Amino acid sequence: MHEDLDKKLCEKYPEIFRNRHEPVTKTPMGWGFECGDGWYDLIDTLCHNIQHYIDWENKYPKAHAENIEQVVASQVKEKFGGLRFYIDYNSDETIRGMITMAESMSYHICEECGDRGKSHGSGWIRTLCDRHAAKYEYRELDI
Ligand SMILES: [Zn+2]
Repeated sequence: MHEDLDKKLCEKYPEIFRNRHEPVTKTPMGWGFECGDGWYDLIDTLCHNIQHYIDWENKYPKAHAENIEQVVASQVKEKFGGLRFYIDYNSDETIRGMITMAESMSYHICEECGDRGKSHGSGWIRTLCDRHAAKYEYRELDI
């Protein structure tokens, strides 16, 4: 991901990306966002929803509810054409659901530009729009 977008995500969500500049020997988050710019909005929206949920629920807790732990990202990357958003242990079902939703959506969004995309490739599978698939000479997958 372009460094300007990387910086923007870290500035908008300092708690989620608090380990962004830790050494890579300590956390893979130190590598940065290991995916294309096309998923910026997806990651931004995911983090916005996660942080809003944590802040809101902790400000106005439901009766007998425990505090929701802050989410800290441990790795954000592309794998087999999909977004992987790994976090330090957090058992909150709502947050898990948000992450699953974003990871599923990534299979329909071009990793390069954010347009509608599909799975392409044979060795290295990537999610790309028709334009970027043609540019990189990727073949559409029948899946
Ligand atoms: Zn594209």
